Amino acid sequence: MIRDHFKILLVDLATGKGRIETLDGRDTVMGGSGLAAMLFRKYGLPDRPWDDPGQPLIFTIGPLTGYFPLMSKTVCAFKSPYHDQYAESHAGGRSALSLRFADYDGLVIRGKAPSLSCLSIGSKHLDLRDVHFLRGMDLLKTGKTLRRMYHGAGHRSILRIGPAGENGSAMACINVDTYRHFGRLGGGAAMGAKNLKGIVIMGDGSFPLPEGKAYPRLFEEVYRKMTDTDMMEKYHNSGTPINMAVLNGIHALPIRNLQKTSDPDIEGITGETFARDTLLRNAACAGCPVGCIHLGFVRERFMEENRYLYRQVSYDHEPIFAAGAMLRVTDAFSVLSILDTMEREGLDVMSAGVALAWATEAFEKGIVSLKETLVPLSFGDKKAYCRAVHHLGAASNEFYALLAQGTLKAARRYGGADFACVLGQEMGGYATGEVFFVSQALGLRHSHLDAGGYSYDQKNKEPDVAGAVRFLVQDEQARVLLTSLVSCLFARGVYGNEVVSECLRSIGCTTLADRLPAVAGDIQQLRWKIRLGTGFDPHAVTIPKRFFEVETWRGRIDAAYLEALKNAYADAIVALAGLDPNPAAGKSG
Ligand code: SF4
Repeated sequence: MIRDHFKILLVDLATGKGRIETLDGRDTVMGGSGLAAMLFRKYGLPDRPWDDPGQPLIFTIGPLTGYFPLMSKTVCAFKSPYHDQYAESHAGGRSALSLRFADYDGLVIRGKAPSLSCLSIGSKHLDLRDVHFLRGMDLLKTGKTLRRMYHGAGHRSILRIGPAGENGSAMACINVDTYRHFGRLGGGAAMGAKNLKGIVIMGDGSFPLPEGKAYPRLFEEVYRKMTDTDMMEKYHNSGTPINMAVLNGIHALPIRNLQKTSDPDIEGITGETFARDTLLRNAACAGCPVGCIHLGFVRERFMEENRYLYRQVSYDHEPIFAAGAMLRVTDAFSVLSILDTMEREGLDVMSAGVALAWATEAFEKGIVSLKETLVPLSFGDKKAYCRAVHHLGAASNEFYALLAQGTLKAARRYGGADFACVLGQEMGGYATGEVFFVSQALGLRHSHLDAGGYSYDQKNKEPDVAGAVRFLVQDEQARVLLTSLVSCLFARGVYGNEVVSECLRSIGCTTLADRLPAVAGDIQQLRWKIRLGTGFDPHAVTIPKRFFEVETWRGRIDAAYLEALKNAYADAIVALAGLDPNPAAGKSG
């Protein structure tokens, strides 16, 4: 049975030492998102800047990790370089299972290493090694070197950053086991600020499985549901890239810096085209029978030796939207080349693609010149984008250094804020309408996954402010439950409350199993308290003009609805954090 307290490894990079903390809270914050928020409340420095050495970099898993399929994610929490507020990012790969086998519920890293270093942890060891020779090394070569340095197959997970993370880019990701990422809000820079190039988690211990027949029976049942239902078809065979043609067909795909939402030339980068022309194989996070990771290939020719090098590049809807549709690159292999370049720099592909789409329009309009962009940017020009991606990762000049801090920061300096496609951070790949725009702009992670606003837009034609806000609050709460467990969101059709309760009971978490909705509500509140406590003001969020000009399947965006929705959702968030959404109105009575 699972222990009823959390076992947290606390590491101080300044001394290279660690200790284990035992914390209560399993029945109140569960794990994952809830545990990360609790740990930030305990160890975070809300009033200090994101790169203060004392800020914690937090990794957490959930109670069902290792016990049931698709409980495969790790939550990473930190103070973000993007907005200097609390942030959360999620990734799969082998990280979660490695932490479970290393016998930790969470890892909290504080301090700053004296030189560029790699941290290795396991169930019985902690080791901090100088890796100054990796400075500036791209993410793929870094991975190769770390794999050689740290032997051990099985449950070994390698997290690392590229040049962007070392340069403090707010778009820097943390790569996990090559094909997964803590992508958004600059986790890579939070790691770089600690002089940490890599983290190796050795799952070198074990954990006991429940005795008796009930647990294996339940495991089998859940496993069967994962593989017998349409999940295999939806995520393994087609995968999220199938959304490209669907969204294009209903005028909801952001194209050419959101100047358009549909274009026949998108045919060259649909999921079907990628699968037909580029797909090499599928991969999976540890222990996942679905295997939704699609790997295409890029071919590089070495002229002098007349030989070719093939590299595998993972693709999904979001990367294709950002490096393809937004840049109007409509050839699948060209998109993979751009993604491969972003990957090597250690950039979040969504942020980088959307930022470069803005830079291209700014260049076309004469707001910035070659002096700034260093490359003549033009929609559809793969070669120019590959070079620009390198400048963005390297922060080659003042323009790219500022752009790497966020598109709006560059727009404020050079102009062009009206057409910056930023909703809290660079937008996700949906132009479905008002509810999605508000959901991402105000969502806690500014992620397309905070709540299903994109699906609400497609199912509800008539404006309904109260109904949409109710949906966003409830859907966020349901997702918070899953991200505290920490389940892959693709399994949300299987992991309903009843199944989750049964799973929790089977490993001995009966109190939690009986209180799921209440616990989810409490975690939702705790996260918002922390986010607002680090400076987020939902009422101060603005949505750039470009979003008001969008044509979707419902016609032009309804500006009045968008504004009303934004204000009402901001009120709801403030109320969720336990504050009075309208204090002035209360006083005047
Ligand atoms: S469905 Fe995909 S993202 Fe989810 S756990 Fe499986 S491989 Fe990972």
